[in-house]
Amino acid sequence: MMKHSSILNFDSDERIDIGTYLLEQINDYMTNIHEIPISPELNVDSVKAHALKLSFEHPVNARKAIDHILEGLRQYQVHTPHPRYFGLYNPRPNFMGILADTITAAFNPQLAAWSHAPIAVEVENYVLKEIASKFGYSAETADGTFTTGGAEANLTAVLTALTHHFPSYAKEGLRSLPVHPVMYASAESHHSLVKAARSSGLGTDSLRIIRTDSEMHIDVRALHHQIQVDRDAGYTPFLIIATGGTTGAGVIDPINEIANLAEREQLWLHVDAAYGGAAVFVPELRDLLHGIDRADSITFDAHKWMSVPMGAGIYITRHKDILHKAFSITADYMPKEGADLDVIDPFTHSIQWSRRFIGLKVYLSLVTAGWEGYHSILQHQTEMGNLLRRELGRSNWKVVNDTVLPVICFTDPDIQSKSQSHFTSYICQEVLRSGQAWISVYEINKVSVLRACITNYDTTEDDILVLIQLLNGARAKYLE
Ligand SMILES: *Cc1c(COP(=O)(O)O)cnc(C)c1O
Repeated sequence: MMKHSSILNFDSDERIDIGTYLLEQINDYMTNIHEIPISPELNVDSVKAHALKLSFEHPVNARKAIDHILEGLRQYQVHTPHPRYFGLYNPRPNFMGILADTITAAFNPQLAAWSHAPIAVEVENYVLKEIASKFGYSAETADGTFTTGGAEANLTAVLTALTHHFPSYAKEGLRSLPVHPVMYASAESHHSLVKAARSSGLGTDSLRIIRTDSEMHIDVRALHHQIQVDRDAGYTPFLIIATGGTTGAGVIDPINEIANLAEREQLWLHVDAAYGGAAVFVPELRDLLHGIDRADSITFDAHKWMSVPMGAGIYITRHKDILHKAFSITADYMPKEGADLDVIDPFTHSIQWSRRFIGLKVYLSLVTAGWEGYHSILQHQTEMGNLLRRELGRSNWKVVNDTVLPVICFTDPDIQSKSQSHFTSYICQEVLRSGQAWISVYEINKVSVLRACITNYDTTEDDILVLIQLLNGARAKYLE
């Protein structure tokens, strides 16, 4: 029979032994990842069999448990840390970020109340203020909170905008309002806004989807028109969401122009810059988001272009009091030691209550790489995107989206026009089947095209050339 305390705790030597072993395995994964097939075979039976293999009736030792799950992960997942994962905005997590999540788990600071984890809360505040300043907010008046991701940040935006415009919303709910609030986002905006419309109680009909122009920006004239139509019909517009780098094609809405409209119409402007927001860290790119400092609030995901592990979302606002108005609450069972101090308990400023130290992975990444380090990484990834565009052109592929960000949508229009979507899905499947790269398919103006995004700071020129070879090979095979 095991000693009681060592059932969950292990003893000191065992911890070092298992921990060292795990670190070696992680290092092996990070070093040799390009040697494993990037995407798994989707065989439901064998995945389930692996998941169910070990039993809770007959516990195994730690090393066996770790080996089992690492084998499962190596075999049965898309390897987003792979340098030729040209996928959605899932980065290769940086090493300090990986360590940060371990530290967070071990020290387990409880970020609900300031007094329970003062250092963690102040580190997060420091990071939030720095990032808010990069977006052009004044550090004094900016406020914000770390979230699980962009979806929670977008929900926070809807709730704060409602609270700002309709002071009775928090207490009496939407039912109490004599008006029907409506909000606006483009057809290319992220679908987490649909969920936010549901969970805020507004309902999805209150989310007006505005058409995009031929280059997939929100059509500002259509937006303006819809606001007028809604006002005339008795609705009450309160919120515009602009996207600072769409999920589909990396397109950035004309934020400054939308800010002018929001100002004239007295609407809350939220900019969803979950991915593209990092452009403000690069002097050469920051103009892409011109006007973002005029937004009332911003969504930014550090787990996208800042290459920290999931989940690290950020909601920031230039309205110092709005998070308090939306989320503050007092509860008898919460610690009171901080009551007389000039500090804020995070649970009064956020949807979450018990909360892990999300900000540590951003802090440790920033404090070791520095803004300078991020500058050069983001620039490198942007250059790799440009290289991919050039190489695609040289091989007679046509890029069909217009963005400076390293998100490239492309097709071969001659073949495409004859075969519709069949060609695109064929090429995508061939690339995935090779195990050498991961790309996806996206629909632009009703045409299905291929999509490759540089999400990995380790992607090199050679990786781009391998992708081009795979694409050309797949096309030749299609034409055989
Ligand atoms: C990824 C993304 C989201 C959702 O963020 P999660 O972190 O996945 O919750 C929202 N908006 C945009 C523009 C995104 O790219």
